[in-house]
This record gives sequence, structure tokens and C-alpha cells, in this order.
Amino acid sequence: MIPASFDYSRPSSLEEALAVLGDAGEEAKVLAGGQSLLPLLRLRLAYPTTLIDIGRVAELRGIADHGDHVFIGAMTTHHEVVRSPVVNEHCPLVALATATVADRAVRHRGTFGGSLAHADPAGDLPSVALALDMDLVVRSSSGERIVPAADFFVDYLEPALEPGEILVGARVPKLGPGWGFHYEKFHRTAQAWATVGVAAAVRRSNGTVAEARIALTNMGPTPIRAVAVEAAVRGAAADRNGALREAAEQAAEGTDPPGDLHARPDYRAHLSRVLTHRALLAACAV
Ligand SMILES: Cc1cc2nc3c(=O)[nH]c(=O)nc-3n(C[C@H](O)[C@H](O)[C@H](O)COP(=O)(O)OP(=O)(O)OC[C@H]3O[C@@H](n4cnc5c(N)ncnc54)[C@H](O)[C@@H]3O)c2cc1C
Repeated sequence: MIPASFDYSRPSSLEEALAVLGDAGEEAKVLAGGQSLLPLLRLRLAYPTTLIDIGRVAELRGIADHGDHVFIGAMTTHHEVVRSPVVNEHCPLVALATATVADRAVRHRGTFGGSLAHADPAGDLPSVALALDMDLVVRSSSGERIVPAADFFVDYLEPALEPGEILVGARVPKLGPGWGFHYEKFHRTAQAWATVGVAAAVRRSNGTVAEARIALTNMGPTPIRAVAVEAAVRGAAADRNGALREAAEQAAEGTDPPGDLHARPDYRAHLSRVLTHRALLAACAV
């Protein structure tokens, strides 16, 4: 289908983009890599009056080491994230999950910030943002605010962005030595979204699990922290398969998995337990 008509603007600085967005009103939309937005326009599931293409805003692109955290700019492509030595060294969970996003063509166009701002619970990066307790940096013409990932994903495709705001990037905490990471994803084909995914970060100390952060992809209208698993696995022997499996049995607690053509809710609940067990095993072994 052909999208409904809209005004198009391509600013070359963040200041200009914020000014245009501020003037354009509530029905304006930011265009990043277009990998999610363009299909929505074509299907006429979204019909913005103005599209503000931020593809030329250089300030929004890039990865920087800031000592205690890594800053990833919103317009950094998935491909750039996967290839980044800084990301691979200090926040490998981001690189692992991003490498599972779609295929090379999509990863060359799609952006880190677009994946977060789209707030799709089936997207891989929202659950990673939650597991790593990222801080999201949001800017409007009246200033900047920091939104913790736990508050950013409000509902299905609904991020905590007000009209006139642009996601500038994310501060990803460096978790340091002792932590192991894994992203486990079940999908129908290599290019497909997760039927269910599990992002795991585990800190080991003296052979036991001292702390675990587990977040689930596609187990509800937003990404969800598996808090029951996090509590159950604390203190477990990191090399005891049985103890990790027992903790993973709690994975579906407090979730509200969707049902669709590919999986019923009870199958997703089953998958969440199996994949959480695998993710814990892998993260404990790193
Ligand atoms: C075939 C295919 C397979 C895919 N498979 C996967 C997958 O397996 N896993 C996965 O996670 N994703 C998948 N995707 C989605 C892909 O990761 C996109 O990159 C991502 O969803 C959106 O990024 P984008 O840069 O293309 O954003 P766009 O499509 O341009 O924008 C998406 C939304 O975010 C808003 N937005 C974008 N950037 C900003 C910003 N900086 N500030 C404020 N709002 C902003 C836009 O207004 C829009 O509402 C797939 C896409 C395709 C086409």
C-alpha cells in the first residue's frame, strides 16, 4: 500500500531537529532507520502529518567510553554496535543480542535508538536495556532528562517519550569483572523476531550466583524482569545445572504472554522456562 501523504523534513543538527519536532505538533514522527516505521506507514497503521528524518544528525551517532558507562548514540546502527570493540569489551550482552536482530540488511539500516523508541516487546534490545539497567537520555527543546529503562517501556509500542522529545542515546553501565552474560532467543527463522527471548546477566562470587538480572522478550506488552528467577537463583551454585533449572522454573511468573499464529501463551510460558535455564547456564559459564 502507499502511505498517506506527510510533510518531510531532514534536519542536519539535533538543535534543528528538536525545533522542527517542537513546531510540528503531536502528530509528527521521527524517522530513524525506517525498518519498523516504514512498514507501519505502508500498512497505514501510522499516519503522521510530518516525518522528521534524523539520518543526517551526526551528534546522534557513535559509541563512547565514559569510564563507568558506555554511551551509545540513538542513530548508531545495529551493525556498528555489533562491530564495536568498546561494546564487545564492556557491554557484551548488547552486542550478543544485537547480532540476533533480523539480518545484515536490516542491521545496516536499523538503529539502536529506533529499537528502543519503538518499544516493541518482541524487539531484542528493550529486554537487554532492562536487564542492564540502562539510563535512556531524552532531549526536547526545553532540556534533557534521564529515564531509567525500568520506566521507559510504558505499554505495547508505547515508550515514555512526550511529543517534541527525541531519544538521544543510552548510558550502558559497565558491570565489570565477575559478570557473565547471555542472550537466548527462540525464533522461527534467522530473520524473525523472538517468539521468546531471555537476556541474562549473572555475577558470580566464590562459585555461587551473587546476583542475577534476567529480562524477558515477548512475554507481555512490555519487556519484563523475571524477578522470581532473580530471587530464586541468588546463592545457587553456579555450576549446578539442577539448581539453575529449578530457579528457571519461575520464569513465567508475573508475565502475560501473547498468543498469535506462532505460539500460544502456554507455549511461550514453557519456552520462557527452557530458555531462561539455557541463558543462566551460559551466563554462569562465561
Ligand atoms: C525483516 C525485519 C526483521 C526484523 N527483525 C527484528 C528482530 O529480530 N529483532 C528486533 O529487535 N528487531 C527486528 N526488526 C526491527 C529492527 O530492529 C529495527 O531496527 C527497529 O525496530 C527500529 O529501528 P529503526 O532505526 O529502523 O527505527 P524506525 O523504524 O525509523 O522508527 C521506529 C519508531 O521509533 C521512533 N524513533 C526512532 N528513533 C527515534 C529517536 N531517536 N527518538 C525518538 N523516537 C524515535 C520512530 O518515530 C518510530 O515510531 C526487524 C525489522 C525488519 C524489517
